[in-house]
Amino acid sequence: MDANVVIMGTESVGKSAITVRLLTRRFIGEYGDIESIYGHSFGREFTLNIWDSPYSEDLSVETSLFEKKVQWADGYVLVYSICDRASFNSVSRLIQTIKSTKDYLSADKVPIVIVGNKRDLHHRRTVLSEEGRLLALNTDCLFYEVSAAENYHSVLMLFHGLLDRMKDAKLTS
Ligand code: GDP
Repeated sequence: MDANVVIMGTESVGKSAITVRLLTRRFIGEYGDIESIYGHSFGREFTLNIWDSPYSEDLSVETSLFEKKVQWADGYVLVYSICDRASFNSVSRLIQTIKSTKDYLSADKVPIVIVGNKRDLHHRRTVLSEEGRLLALNTDCLFYEVSAAENYHSVLMLFHGLLDRMKDAKLTS
């Protein structure tokens, strides 16, 4: 199975750090402004095409590009920083926009993972884990807190979670 995943969120929340962590298992600290689609295999059966872009996704992005991304994707990784409340609020808006842009009838089962990144910066935390969990519960999304800087495993887990959701969505559609 080949599936398309888009990674979205406001600027500097760690979208590229998460993508690069998955692809290379490494954290390199600074990431250029590269817009790219990367292929990544999960075992022999699955390949994810992951679209990472340097732009902020807080709806300031050009509408046609935003819609193109949303239509292209089968699954969504929506990232905020646990130290940045505005980025969390933006994820909440993104979920509504994705669900209304995508086929309305299947809106409930759109595979979306909410990701609170920078868990290592807990001394600067402004968004509680509970808030992320509650948002996921209310919107029928998955939720993970991760640190792209410190931990490969948590990043891998979030993509596995999304993969399972995408398989379920395909089976029931
Ligand atoms: P993007 O604009 O959302 O793609 O964000 P980047 O991946 O470019 O990351 C923005 C900044 O946050 C960079 O300086 C990264 O080194 C830093 N960063 C990303 N993830 C983490 C993390 O988990 N912990 C910490 N402490 N810094 C991170």
